Amino acid sequence: MPGHLSASQITPHRDRYIHELLTFCRQRSISSTGEGMTAMSQMVIERLQRLGARTSVYTVGQSYPFIFAEIGHGPRTLLLYNHYDVQPARREDGWQHDPFEPEIRDGRVYARGVADNKANLLFRIQSIEAYLKAHGELPLRVCFLIEGEEEIGSPHIERFVQQHRELIAADGCIWEVGRRGFDNRPLIYLGMRGILMVELSLMAAANEIHSSWANIVENPANALLDRLRAVLDTLSDSAGRPTFGGLLDELPQPSATDLELIERIPFDLATFQVERDVLLRADVSDPRDALRRLFFEPTCNLCGLSVGHGALGIKTVVPNRAVAKLDLRLPLGLTPDLVEARLRTHLHTHGFDDVHVQRLGALQPARTNPDAEIVRVTSAAVQTVYGVEPIIYPTMPASGPMYELCHAQGIPALTFGAGHAGDNVHAANENIYLDDYFQALQAFGDLLWRFGQS
Ligand SMILES: [Zn+2]
Repeated sequence: MPGHLSASQITPHRDRYIHELLTFCRQRSISSTGEGMTAMSQMVIERLQRLGARTSVYTVGQSYPFIFAEIGHGPRTLLLYNHYDVQPARREDGWQHDPFEPEIRDGRVYARGVADNKANLLFRIQSIEAYLKAHGELPLRVCFLIEGEEEIGSPHIERFVQQHRELIAADGCIWEVGRRGFDNRPLIYLGMRGILMVELSLMAAANEIHSSWANIVENPANALLDRLRAVLDTLSDSAGRPTFGGLLDELPQPSATDLELIERIPFDLATFQVERDVLLRADVSDPRDALRRLFFEPTCNLCGLSVGHGALGIKTVVPNRAVAKLDLRLPLGLTPDLVEARLRTHLHTHGFDDVHVQRLGALQPARTNPDAEIVRVTSAAVQTVYGVEPIIYPTMPASGPMYELCHAQGIPALTFGAGHAGDNVHAANENIYLDDYFQALQAFGDLLWRFGQS
């Protein structure tokens, strides 16, 4: 008979589960270079097959394999979204050891990809396995969608969904990431901001020219940068928000429930400033207002500015081109298409027709209704296993393909995972606590049971 998953039903498998986690982390799977991607996808498929799941593999164009798997039966379907690729890592980036030779120290596992996203991928599989050993059957149907391109912006997921919409139909989705916050309570995020990444470029001449001509040829570097700065000055305000196209006037206001959620989020600006070693904007002083801005306002962020050869090493030329790169985070109510169109119109009406705009990537914003069943069930599972209430964020300030996979299909999605506030994802010495790993594994079993009952 299905039921909860207790700690004593997990303990007998503990050593094997840790061994599997280390094996996953030892396998390189760097999507930006392709290193180890085939071997890692095979390892994931084999693990799912050992679980007893039916697996199938799809590619879209030149994509790395999308792995789909399903197991269990019931009126309810839970979708799990994960990825098997990781960010690049080199020991000289500040790691204390080879990032692909996992080490366990002081109750933590250190390895590239352990927090993002291999632990979350594996504990979900192992939790289902422990559940089946304890109860014989699952109380619902579970589907996995595991991609290999999350760390390079999920360039094929939208087309995958268009081609296989019937595969991912579900009553709720648990997103790939998840962690405990600074006060140790688990965090649940009910959405993600969208993003538009664009490059603005200006040309002075058709070609660069050998710098030996520099005595007699004008160097346009400064003029190009001045012109780009004049363009940038019209695009954002002192609060880092886009000022073009009347975007701020059209934003939907946060709901009463959203504001209530913000009230319950512990956020100390002074601690944040010290821990991240950053300077806050002059007008940021109230933590509630800061959270409201992070969740419900857009950004227009200059993330790169260069003229001539900005890459490593030297290239002796008189440059001909200057480039500004912008990323704009978009709350619900703003789509990348709308924002790009308004940007182009703005540049035209302000006489900046010489600026070439190129889109480098985009994702739509996604939100989950705080009243959705999956939110209630996940909160209850966390409360039961961790003994504390989770902190529910109305959305994540960051971005991911949650709209494309879930929101557009009407699937409520939220985050839940084994990370923690100091897990260093994408950075050196990425790590998780083993205690978090097994607590998340147990809570996930509880979630399976609860979602199957609801
Ligand atoms: Zn990542």
